[in-house]
Amino acid sequence: MSLILHNRPHPKADFPIFDPQGPNAGLAYLDSGASAQKPASVIEAVSQFYATGYANIHRGVYKLSATATDAYEGVRVQVAKFLNAASEQEIIFVRGATEGLNLIAHSWGRAHLKAGDAVLISAMEHHANIIPWQILRDQIGIELRVAALAADGGIDRADFTAKLADGKVKLASFTHIANATGAVLPVAELVAEAKAAGALVAIDGCQAIPHRPVDVQALDCDFYVFSAHKLYGPTGTGILYGRLSVLEGMPPYQTGGDMVATVRFDKTEFLEPPQRFEAGTPDIAGVIGLGAAIDYVQSLGWAWIEEHEKILLAYGESVLSKVPGLTLLPAGPERAGIFSFTVDGVHPHDLGTILDHHNVAIRAGSHCAQPLLNEFGLTATARASLGLYNEPEDLDRLVEAIRAAQRMFA
Ligand code: PLP
Repeated sequence: MSLILHNRPHPKADFPIFDPQGPNAGLAYLDSGASAQKPASVIEAVSQFYATGYANIHRGVYKLSATATDAYEGVRVQVAKFLNAASEQEIIFVRGATEGLNLIAHSWGRAHLKAGDAVLISAMEHHANIIPWQILRDQIGIELRVAALAADGGIDRADFTAKLADGKVKLASFTHIANATGAVLPVAELVAEAKAAGALVAIDGCQAIPHRPVDVQALDCDFYVFSAHKLYGPTGTGILYGRLSVLEGMPPYQTGGDMVATVRFDKTEFLEPPQRFEAGTPDIAGVIGLGAAIDYVQSLGWAWIEEHEKILLAYGESVLSKVPGLTLLPAGPERAGIFSFTVDGVHPHDLGTILDHHNVAIRAGSHCAQPLLNEFGLTATARASLGLYNEPEDLDRLVEAIRAAQRMFA
């Protein structure tokens, strides 16, 4: 089955890693949930910046530094538009979602939470949205509440509601799409409920950002985090969106150069957000690459991306359901981009290794979501996750390779 939608050739050709003459010829890459491959335009933007535009930002009085600063700050404006934030002051460049979540916990959390307050997460979180809150629990004495998993693999709405009822929850922090199952959470409804109960809301958008448009004003969330590398951009950079009025009440997370107005030995005055949260030299080239990644995604358009994914999801569900002994983890009422599964008699790690021999790349393990896998009585699954370059053939190859593994272990 070959795929040409909206008269546009399939974008695999835009990604040098898939070059049919290159070292990875024939690769079926199904691990975009871990990290997405990069289009030539992103690689070119990073390389051009280093080759012709490189200088440190915010401090140089010379042309090259001013141009680099403009390019970097231009991406801030671009990201604000991409997320429909009210202002670019609400966009903080971080190393990735992990740093974004830690920043919320250690800056906002330490300033605003006290013993007896509660933070509510879901049972579907990545470790990056569990451990920072455990640290605050152990150091400050907050309560960490977990909204349960529903039988269908979605979030248990009644439990979420019940855990907000006593008004002690000061922050609800949950994922938009669960990385270990692909479950899409009804984030707009959860935000509305948590806000009505008096809590702020943080959303981990790592898995959602490559798959659907995000409008932080429509969601009405207070924080939204994602990593550039899952959006076809470079590693080492990511975004923390924060509502300006909330950011203004937060102390710095890290300190050093580039985030201060004045420094004396007796006192330091910090800059306003977002600079207050960006200490030290950032990953300038990574940010430039993120800008190119957003341009690339927008050049395809969400309509194409979402339709393409819908076709692949339906096709994947259909072919995987025909493999005897394969159990797909449930993903609630809506699945996005991820198939997490076990195969009777074949350990996920063995499966991943055998698939690799067939030039099919998937992820095997706990996907940094051990508590969620425990809910299913598992310690590991095989996970095939989709990117916009995947084609139905990649899923055919996956199924053929799984069947080959089953024959080996029969
Ligand atoms: N949250 C979710 C849902 C993820 O899928 C990931 C990465 O897999 C992260 C957080 C952490 O992202 P990073 O390692 O880029 O900081």
